[in-house]
Amino acid sequence: MRLIFLGPPGSGKGTQSEFICKDFHIVQLSTGDLLRYHRKNGTELGKKAKEFMDKGELVPDDLIIEIIRNELKKKEYSNGFLLDGFPRTITQAEALDKLLAELNLHLDAVLVLNVPTEELITRLTARRTCPICGKTYHLIYNPPKVDGKCDLDGGELYQRSDDNEETVRNRLEVYEKQTKPLIDYYQSKGLAYFIDGIGKIEDIYSRLKAILDSIKKN
Ligand code: AMP
Repeated sequence: MRLIFLGPPGSGKGTQSEFICKDFHIVQLSTGDLLRYHRKNGTELGKKAKEFMDKGELVPDDLIIEIIRNELKKKEYSNGFLLDGFPRTITQAEALDKLLAELNLHLDAVLVLNVPTEELITRLTARRTCPICGKTYHLIYNPPKVDGKCDLDGGELYQRSDDNEETVRNRLEVYEKQTKPLIDYYQSKGLAYFIDGIGKIEDIYSRLKAILDSIKKN
């Protein structure tokens, strides 16, 4: 299956992606994770992306499209993929359509996770991330077993530099202005599926899985 995960920052795309990819044997491709990897390794791309990311702005389309173009050609995605955090603008969505046509591939669904804004702010400012594996926790709703340490590898959890309240508010505004129009874009193609992103992590996943099972059957 080839899927796009659409939803504001903090809606739970990363958390739910893990379950989807495991159950449906596909690979997650998160542009945010890729950019953080480049920043950590001090690459040219990482240096260029930093100023945008720290303000909560989008990295320029041409840089992101180039990353996706290189990634999607890799063999590891041949069984399917889940795009998390891409596309984020109409220009990116059009570039993706073009790339998929070139590769003779089609999208199966665009999953849209709905969560109210105030809830997103609470979630993001209490989010902590593992620097080693990228797993995220919520200090209250989904805390690690040992305070400050990742359950999977013991990594020292940190707060992402763009998860402070001011930057979070900007990221949400950017989502409203630049990314939300993509919902109409994919709805007009008959690809959009809407999921209530409020509730327990496993309940949200059940909703997603029911949709994906029915798509897979048809
Ligand atoms: P995320 O981890 O998806 O919340 O992304 C973190 C930051 O990376 C965003 O606030 C942007 O600065 C940048 N970013 C990630 N994906 C994209 C994209 N598709 N287009 C532009 N910027 C992106």
